Amino acid sequence: MYKAPVEEIAFTLNHVAGLAEALELGRLGDLSGDLVDAILQEAARFADNEIAPVADAGDLQGARIEGDVVKTPDGWPALYRHWREGGWNGLTAPEAYGGQALPHMLNVAALEMWAAASMAFALAPTLTMGAAEAVAAHGTDELKSLYLEKMVSGEWTGTMNLTEPQAGSDLGALRTRAEPREDGSYRIFGQKIFITWGEHDAAENIIHLVLARLPDAPQGTQGISLFLVPKFLVAKDGELGARNDLFCHSIEHKLGIHGSPTCTMIYGDGRYAGKDGAGAIGYLVGEENRGLACMFTMMNNARLAVGMQGVAACEAATQKALSYAQERRQGRAPGADRADGRFEEMSPIVDHPDIARTLLTMKVLTQGSRAICYACAHAIDMAHRLKGDEANLWADRAALLTPIAKSFSTDAGVEVASLGIQVHGGMGYVEETGAARYLRDVRIAPIYEGTNGIQAIDLVIRKLPLASGQHVRGFIGELREIAAKVQAAGDAAFGETAERLSAAISALLKATDWLLEAQDERRLSDALSGATPYLRLFGLTLTGAYLAKAALVAIDNGEGEARTALCRFMAENLLAETSALKDRVVCGAASLEAARIALATR
Ligand SMILES: Cc1cc2nc3c(=O)[nH]c(=O)nc-3n(C[C@H](O)[C@H](O)[C@H](O)COP(=O)(O)OP(=O)(O)OC[C@H]3O[C@@H](n4cnc5c(N)ncnc54)[C@H](O)[C@@H]3O)c2cc1C
Repeated sequence: MYKAPVEEIAFTLNHVAGLAEALELGRLGDLSGDLVDAILQEAARFADNEIAPVADAGDLQGARIEGDVVKTPDGWPALYRHWREGGWNGLTAPEAYGGQALPHMLNVAALEMWAAASMAFALAPTLTMGAAEAVAAHGTDELKSLYLEKMVSGEWTGTMNLTEPQAGSDLGALRTRAEPREDGSYRIFGQKIFITWGEHDAAENIIHLVLARLPDAPQGTQGISLFLVPKFLVAKDGELGARNDLFCHSIEHKLGIHGSPTCTMIYGDGRYAGKDGAGAIGYLVGEENRGLACMFTMMNNARLAVGMQGVAACEAATQKALSYAQERRQGRAPGADRADGRFEEMSPIVDHPDIARTLLTMKVLTQGSRAICYACAHAIDMAHRLKGDEANLWADRAALLTPIAKSFSTDAGVEVASLGIQVHGGMGYVEETGAARYLRDVRIAPIYEGTNGIQAIDLVIRKLPLASGQHVRGFIGELREIAAKVQAAGDAAFGETAERLSAAISALLKATDWLLEAQDERRLSDALSGATPYLRLFGLTLTGAYLAKAALVAIDNGEGEARTALCRFMAENLLAETSALKDRVVCGAASLEAARIALATR
């Protein structure tokens, strides 16, 4: 069963992402290293001892709907209550509402462990934390005082209602209506699909954040407003009142995350009409027609959290595959022959070079995606806690890293979970070993919270041009310093790491310059066609650089052997792909337009 790798998580937070330095410089208030360790240990204990044991049963049973009541798997409501009583929901939330105002770095580390134990379960808190953050940032004082404390404590869960049948990636197409009423509230009418934890039996109230359109709103994304729509209305004294006019019509049958109800929500059709008729009562969050910007507060948080689901799948799948490979015996690995030429027994499959290469690739992708996500969380923390130019620089860094953290890590999650099945052979394909669940669960992560294709476009179109391209170039310069340090270390154990990493960084810079130039010259289609390979190129180069950074720290601590070996393996096996990815970015566009003819023929 999954065991949270607390030491590895702490090492990456402290020495790769920048937590130790931030603590030393006093950038995180009076937070101490000891408190960090205690929180990580406790989060790990909850993942290992409380969530992991019920994850498989929850997957097997799944969420069920009876009428418009949705039931989560047996034991999950109690598990959820236990989890929120531990105070976990408010880790990063403001102290004024009962939160602990701790850094995001700690929260994402904890989310990784909970999602590795059960991604379906961890989705409930993930959505609630994001919803609370959006209300804290954009809600009126009245909304905050009525709702935030219960959302921060987790007594009430939160949801994110964007998607409609005709409006997926393109939210400009959404049709849900919001009609203003004289008392300042709104009535919401419409249908939302695929709403995660939209209805369930684990909390006494559910606070839906719903995107909708006012009657006179401009077309497209400029005309979208955000509303807080509670399942049960809340009186001014905080008491729960009547049922609001909304319900869950059905839940989806899906590939994975079976314990997480994915709901079709109906707003305002009169099933729970109030005394003044049909319409779900909602309250405006932020300004009219500025709803998408407010929702982005939640979505940025959620994108990094989804990135953590990718890391979580990587870690859990790698642990399972490694332990299987140490037990399962087949064939004879090179060097396993006895001196007399006879064989005594079969080798554990981990001894076969092909399996060792697979497992090491899984380990590299796990550590790389974890480092990228934690570095993104560190940037968010620094943007919140520093001031002026420094804060702006970190905000740009967080903006640049968010699409990479989301997409590279979730693609890695799918790749690693699939490799994990491969290591298990046929036993991976049947459900018995549990290896298949990781792939089934994580396969949604590249799709929701903005598909990975949309993230790649965001990276190229909105993030590369930050500070006229100087931010990304400065960041690439920082990666060069890491390669130079590897070179300067002169340690033979690094093999060709310095050269390979430098070549990858050059490829990244070349592709970056090409994409910025294409945009300057308004060759948008050229830039867009290379977006996905570019994002992987960025993610792989960062992986190489962060593994090298980790190895250099470990060498200084006298414990560098395993990290240096893994870093060298990464550089000499995986970084070669960066050159091909650069070619796909700069040379791929030319053939794409002409090749469309192949799509027109069957
Ligand atoms: C299990 C599950 C849980 C979910 N949870 C939630 C939730 O809690 N709240 C919520 O609001 N939604 C939720 N969703 C919906 C999810 O966010 C959407 O499915 C996702 O945004 C993609 O939208 P779509 O499915 O309509 O695909 P489409 O937008 O139709 O996309 C199809 C394909 O076309 C590509 N594409 C689309 N537009 C472009 C473009 N402009 N340029 C290039 N490529 C493009 C996409 O990348 C994708 O590969 C969930 C979905 C699932 C399956």
